[in-house]
Amino acid sequence: MSFKMDNVDKQNGRREHYKDLFLVYGLVFILSGLLLLLFSLLRIPNLQDYQDIIIGVIFLSIFISFFLIVIAQKNNRNRKRWRFLLSYSEEEQTAILKLFNIARIKGLWALPDLDEEIKRHFLESKKVKIKVTRGYNLFFNDEDSKRDIFYHCIFDAGSKDKREIELLLHLPCLHSLHTRQRAEANHMDVAEYVEKLFEVVKKLKDVTLSTENKNEITVKFYNDYEVKWRYYIFEEKSNYKKTLYLNYYDDRISGAESAMLKIEYGEGSLCHDFDKKFDDIFSNKTIELVSNIKGDISLLPKTFCHPECGDLIKAKYEDVFKVKQR
Ligand SMILES: [Zn+2]
Repeated sequence: MSFKMDNVDKQNGRREHYKDLFLVYGLVFILSGLLLLLFSLLRIPNLQDYQDIIIGVIFLSIFISFFLIVIAQKNNRNRKRWRFLLSYSEEEQTAILKLFNIARIKGLWALPDLDEEIKRHFLESKKVKIKVTRGYNLFFNDEDSKRDIFYHCIFDAGSKDKREIELLLHLPCLHSLHTRQRAEANHMDVAEYVEKLFEVVKKLKDVTLSTENKNEITVKFYNDYEVKWRYYIFEEKSNYKKTLYLNYYDDRISGAESAMLKIEYGEGSLCHDFDKKFDDIFSNKTIELVSNIKGDISLLPKTFCHPECGDLIKAKYEDVFKVKQR
């Protein structure tokens, strides 16, 4: 965010400046009036003796500051030094207000409160977008899983409502720093990491085969684009309101265990931008690894980033889906 004055209409800026001056002086007058009222209410002895001096000092300081501001205003180079006198132009004030608007941050949420929040949003949602690396700790509730919030949402509490879920997972590549770092953060080697990834895909594929579970899940894989952010976006059933939960990958800990920022939707907000970013990645920068068609479990890509990555992915897919590729 830049506060450069170059493209600010100078005339307009000056008018705003005088408006601010009036505000400052108005406040000074009101405050002095209140002080005098307070003094007389408190019946300070001999107030009459000091009253003229007090008023004189107030007027003198107003005069001096007025001249100092006018001189500073004439010399644009010095203008910045007088910022503390509220001499922001309209554009600058808008920029500052935008900072608050863009953020719309509603706190940093850590476990276990974060899970309560996510569950509440999930149950109220008609569409959920999830971008994680592998999601094992979120979608499984076995002894290896550190946290199982989406398992409870999808397979338990939220299984009976119709809901669209779009999931973005990271395509594992043996040469990707992100793959190695995430495997390391979860204390496993890359082969085990890929196997767990397919267990997630299989588990979610089973949902699409079930008639009991009403969630519709589409899983796609992104390359090393935008690997640093993990986030969930919940779109509510009733009013289309969206909420974003966002965090940045820490090399040392499992993503599922880190705290997340809660950010509300608004035009031009971070939630709005991440929502658009998700849609762009989902539609244009992903591949389908296992078919998303109901009842079809084939591994779609014929070639992979590197031959060794293809070998590992095929082997782990066959292990988990119990199929032998021809
Ligand atoms: Zn590769």
